[in-house]
Amino acid sequence: MFADRAKIYVKSGKGGDGHVSFRREKYVPNGGPDGGDGGDGGDVIFEVDDGLNTLTDFRHIRKYVAGNGENGNKKNCRGKNGADIVIKIPYGTVIKEGESGKVIKDMSGENRRFVLLKGGRGGRGNQHYATSTMQAPKYAQPGQEAQELELQLELKVIADVGLVGFPNVGKSTLLSHVSNARPKIANYHFTTLSPNLGVVELEDAKGFVIADIPGLIEGASEGAGLGHEFLRHIERTKVMIHIVDAASTEGRDPVKDIYAINRELEAYNPGIAKRPQIIAANKIDMIIGHMGMNGEEDPIGRIRAEFEPKGMRVFPISAVSGKGVRELLYAVNNLLEEMDDQPVIFEREYFPEELLAKEEPYTVSYQEKEDAYVVEGPRIEKMLGYTNLESERGFAFFQKFLKDNGILDELEALGIQEGDTVRMYGLSFDYYK
Ligand code: GDP
Ligand code: MG
Repeated sequence: MFADRAKIYVKSGKGGDGHVSFRREKYVPNGGPDGGDGGDGGDVIFEVDDGLNTLTDFRHIRKYVAGNGENGNKKNCRGKNGADIVIKIPYGTVIKEGESGKVIKDMSGENRRFVLLKGGRGGRGNQHYATSTMQAPKYAQPGQEAQELELQLELKVIADVGLVGFPNVGKSTLLSHVSNARPKIANYHFTTLSPNLGVVELEDAKGFVIADIPGLIEGASEGAGLGHEFLRHIERTKVMIHIVDAASTEGRDPVKDIYAINRELEAYNPGIAKRPQIIAANKIDMIIGHMGMNGEEDPIGRIRAEFEPKGMRVFPISAVSGKGVRELLYAVNNLLEEMDDQPVIFEREYFPEELLAKEEPYTVSYQEKEDAYVVEGPRIEKMLGYTNLESERGFAFFQKFLKDNGILDELEALGIQEGDTVRMYGLSFDYYK
């Protein structure tokens, strides 16, 4: 199968713990604290690599883990930072949260490098906790925890132009004609089930990339879901060539077909349906005189009458002989040039920083103005939110939380005395061991 999707797991590095130690020197019996800080954990970074054009590699390696920060050490030695992990992806990869499928980052346009997860901050060594009243602090801050995420990577084809139409109307023929005439085909390693891309080169014009979306209606009409698989690939196209069998060689009605496909597009994504379309009325070599094969008179005139008032230009072509193809391609090219050159970039919907905020440790400080020790942090706020301090059990839980999270140690380190005031959000109480 075509490797345009992958599920991976990423994890940033944990911050190293701060260290507790005291200077030992000759003739100095009790040296001051000299515990060093922990190193920072490594980040998880994504980087576009223009040499890549599939997500195949991610099927072999699914875990991407950055290095942990080293713990601090004695003699004020700071732990080494953990190594970042840099994940190389093809241009156009959309990074999504694994479960919700929400977009975290679209690596298109200017987005070439993105720090998805920051490594945990290193904890502070006990040297930082010395105060006038507490000269031998036995507390050092633990390093911040690592963050992990399941991700879904999705590579969406970057084509300017999508070819849509019912089966057998001539999509593949047109694409191969265009590519044969200018035999330069983008080197995408796609299999038959994937969209076929061709680079259209034109004299005195910029040219464009065109994608034949083979499964579009075949799958959708059978309800197989395949249709939507392929529709993902045209999400980024700016213009669509809507191709119909104008000669009705298989008895299809081209006017009905155009409406049917546009309903399909609309149902998938109304934004796509609004993008400009140019109609290629194909197989004109099979129109005898002015007659379509189902006996209809002037089918081209009928398509024009129906769709040109709606702003869709109609080009009669024969994909087999090449008649009219040149005019069609130049019209598409001009339309693209009129449009701004910005790629379609998906907006961010998911913010991993919210995860970080959840894990953000508390801060403990002494506020001189209110003569109180203040403990703050989202986790504490949350904990207070669901704890009933009036009840004995609730209060016991609260004390255990303070102890387990090192908050009591930090208060001690700051030199708190029995009877001093501690404030956490709306709550004030006296400190007793
Ligand atoms: P797709 O399913 O839309 O990709 O259609 P294909 O390109 O595979 O074409 C389906 C059939 O229509 C093939 O037998 C083609 O040879 C034929 N065909 C495509 N374009 C033309 C054309 O301009 N004139 C004629 N007479 N036949 C065509
Ligand atoms: Mg085809």
